[in-house]
Amino acid sequence: MHEMSIAMAVVGQVEEAARAGGARAVTSVRLRVGELAGVVPDALAFCFELACAGTVLDGASLVTESVTARARCGSCPGTWAVGMPPELCCPGCGRATDVELLSGRELEILSVRWEDGPAGARTREPIPEEA
Ligand SMILES: [Zn+2]
Repeated sequence: MHEMSIAMAVVGQVEEAARAGGARAVTSVRLRVGELAGVVPDALAFCFELACAGTVLDGASLVTESVTARARCGSCPGTWAVGMPPELCCPGCGRATDVELLSGRELEILSVRWEDGPAGARTREPIPEEA
């Protein structure tokens, strides 16, 4: 599943940052997801929960911020919301030859919130292999 690999990647990145920052528990992760990133928010939330289990992110909430896909026409001054499925023909002049996608493919971690542990008091065990 597409969302599962995204969730795993996000958890991996956050885990690394959290460990480097001495976090005790991650409470929430904010993601920016473009309309055209091909992510189903519900599926991602579900996979995120699974991917978090047993990590420092266990129980963390996922907040997704969706980004509207917009395109700009190179033949006229038109910009428009592309929508889903994407409409890549300019509604202004009807051309689709010189279309530039301005936004909508984002998939990035915006922010992570965590609780700090007492500095140096805890070292994390390496992540055990999944049984
Ligand atoms: Zn146009």
